[in-house]
Amino acid sequence: MIKNKIEQNIESTSLTQRVFVERENLCPLCNHQLAIRVKAYLENFTIAEEAYCENCELVTRTKDHKIN
Ligand SMILES: [Zn+2]
Repeated sequence: MIKNKIEQNIESTSLTQRVFVERENLCPLCNHQLAIRVKAYLENFTIAEEAYCENCELVTRTKDHKIN
């Protein structure tokens, strides 16, 4: 049981780091830095991630991460 808890912590740490790296992306149209919106759906262990440009309101991608 304790081992399972540790593995869950490692999983969520790597997900956080990946989201941080993707913050560095730039808009393909205007080179403005993209903002990342993350919505968590804890009831089905999914995180929905959306990258968008605040300058031209372009949404470049949406992604779903399964946590478990
Ligand atoms: Zn843009």
